[in-house]
Amino acid sequence: MNQITIAIDGYSSCGKSTLAKALAVKLGYKYVDTGAMYRCTTYYLMQKDIVGNGKIFNAEQIIKELEHIVITFQYNPTLRFSEAYLNQVNVEKEIRQMPVSENVSKVSALKEVRQKMVSLQKLMGKNKGVVMEGRDIGTAVFPNAELKLFMTADIDVRVQRRYDELHSKGTMISYDEVKKNLQERDFDDTNRKENPLVKASDAIILDNSDLNPQQQLDFVLRLIDDLQLFKAK
Ligand code: C5P
Repeated sequence: MNQITIAIDGYSSCGKSTLAKALAVKLGYKYVDTGAMYRCTTYYLMQKDIVGNGKIFNAEQIIKELEHIVITFQYNPTLRFSEAYLNQVNVEKEIRQMPVSENVSKVSALKEVRQKMVSLQKLMGKNKGVVMEGRDIGTAVFPNAELKLFMTADIDVRVQRRYDELHSKGTMISYDEVKKNLQERDFDDTNRKENPLVKASDAIILDNSDLNPQQQLDFVLRLIDDLQLFKAK
């Protein structure tokens, strides 16, 4: 069967990772969480005390650090997905914390940061057979992807999902703080100059406000069937 590229973009916390992971397992494809790459970069800069903690945003200093940042993914067979490593250290837990979420959109708006990430992402998906999710996959990374999905969901549904996820992992943050973070990131991500979050003209909208993970997976598998995406060209 020929392999395809699946590009998933959309707003924060609307289930992109859940869908992408499930699709990758189902199809035996590689899964790439590009948000993790921007989070790793931000986490590194925070560790170096260059970003966060009331620091004035210093683009020049950030750009200088980029050559020291090595981001890789390693497959975890127990979890059945690839975890993010920053300079050889597994940082999956650290990069999902609120301080990183609060700074990541400013860092990812920088052209030089995006250039580095996008070229890495192109390499990771060059042989197809990949499900990649983020904000600019269908527009900038793989504009020729065979299947592009643009995901969205009601803001309160998204906030509740993220709130539940953070609380289940022990981060006792308020509902309003989660909402503020999602709204700010969505605003920054859709309004930046470099590769903003925008629906690719040929992307299919998937609003999962009323769908559970299994229903959204079924929807996409049906779509792949209906569009006959695996038919040899
Ligand atoms: O997907 P996730 O919420 O983990 O992404 C974190 C942040 O990384 C986003 O809010 C966005 O600022 C940035 N990002 C991006 N481009 C991508 C993926 C993520 O700018 N392709």
